[in-house]
Amino acid sequence: MNNKLTAFQRRHLAAVKSLECGVCGAAGPSDAHHIEQGLQFTCIPLCKDCHQGSFNGIHGQKRIWNVMKKTEMTVLNDTIEKLLR
Ligand SMILES: [Zn+2]
Ligand SMILES: [Zn+2]
Repeated sequence: MNNKLTAFQRRHLAAVKSLECGVCGAAGPSDAHHIEQGLQFTCIPLCKDCHQGSFNGIHGQKRIWNVMKKTEMTVLNDTIEKLLR
């Protein structure tokens, strides 16, 4: 999959992964979670727990997302702001 990416897309992914977790603020490097599979500019930085944790993760019960009042869209919005700052 990675070899289909353009250099520009790979640079963007690397920049997103270098950010802190967009939900809990845990220091990077983070996972890049794609809001829409295959759309590289919808990826957001998440720590392992906020990403794949069965209790807290976006792929699990999303508990911390609810506590922190975050959604994929608010985190994407914050991510773009951080990258353009
Ligand atoms: Zn996190
Ligand atoms: Zn994911």
